Amino acid sequence: MSKSKGYAALKAMSPLAPYTFERRQPREHDVVIDIKYCGICHSDIHQARDEWSEYQEEAIFPMVPGHEIAGDVSEVGAKVTKHKVGDKVGVGCFVDSCRTCPECRSGLEQYCSVKTVWTYNARDNEGSPTYGGYSDRIVVDESYALRMPKNLPLDACAPLLCAGITLYSPLKHWKAGPGKKIAIVGLGGLGHMGVKLGHALCAEVTVLSQSLRKQDDAKRLGADHFYATSDPATFTKLTRSFDLVLNTVSAQIDWNQYLSLLKVDGSMVVVGLPEKDIPVGAFSLTGGRRSLAGSAIGGIRETQEMLDFCDAHGVACDIEVVPIQKVNGAYERVLKSDVRYRFVIDMATLGKD
Ligand code: NAP
Ligand code: ZN
Ligand code: ZN
Repeated sequence: MSKSKGYAALKAMSPLAPYTFERRQPREHDVVIDIKYCGICHSDIHQARDEWSEYQEEAIFPMVPGHEIAGDVSEVGAKVTKHKVGDKVGVGCFVDSCRTCPECRSGLEQYCSVKTVWTYNARDNEGSPTYGGYSDRIVVDESYALRMPKNLPLDACAPLLCAGITLYSPLKHWKAGPGKKIAIVGLGGLGHMGVKLGHALCAEVTVLSQSLRKQDDAKRLGADHFYATSDPATFTKLTRSFDLVLNTVSAQIDWNQYLSLLKVDGSMVVVGLPEKDIPVGAFSLTGGRRSLAGSAIGGIRETQEMLDFCDAHGVACDIEVVPIQKVNGAYERVLKSDVRYRFVIDMATLGKD
């Protein structure tokens, strides 16, 4: 075991504060990563506030959040072949899985039928708590570390590891591309990557945001159209317009209203994870043979494909870099939808309290 420094929520709802904890000694297939940057995902906030207790076996405090981790390999175990010291690598939402179930074998480790080991707020296969990327180092099996883009800044690529793949995977699965009309609901961390990736895949992209505040930004990010959902006329005007609606909203909204925006055979894919369940009417689905689906991040193979796609197409995140001492203020701004469009913690500020 060796000591690691980070920031943790000591208990549910408590502000994050400096925290020292143990990381495992690197095993023969492990890499040690010096963390340079870590994005702040809304999921970090949901978990630090214990908002998902209904859906999780346990919430583990103290909790070191962070699953958009980018850094340099500083050490490798004797049998590591995939990465070497000095490589720029990333870690996303999970650090292990069973590796043998049908889902793992087909590259869908995030849906492992035995156990996906989440990057934090989980237990590894030995039963020890996992700790995330708001910290100086992480020790992870080489198979769960990704190669980061070579031509893009590392800080702006950290959020690809969750926000990027969470939108890329459903865009690919539901075949967003030329001739397809897609809507992105909510222009936050996930939503802005949906716009950039949907545009890069040549789909026609519409943003549905609470107000018109972010309209200019959305157009700059690649959106073709923008509407405010606070205006009831938006829903009448856009009835039966889209092949695909990607819903990234972190709060309770009326999904039936958004289902009405789908063409016949269209799909709404939910990626936002609000605290409470949302009722859906049968008629919202039957009137147009519509599908309501969900999607979680992406597997290792697809995450690497997304990182390489972003490298080739020059797609990175719009970020605001913050010192770790400002993490609690950043959380408050995310909660007010006041982030343009992802906070990224500069880990060089750790220990400078
Ligand atoms: P975020 O940056 O806070 O973005 C969420 C956006 O939703 C906001 O910017 C806002 O967009 C909109 N919104 C917020 N409150 C709203 C309300 N009351 N009514 C209508 N719209 C509202 O969060 P994020 O990091 O993108 O994460 C979004 C959600 O996805 C979270 O629940 C997170 O836990 C979840 N998530 C899921 C996965 C997965 O694999 N499925 C992965 C990562 C995160 P506007 O200002 O444009 O309205
Ligand atoms: Zn996330
Ligand atoms: Zn598995």
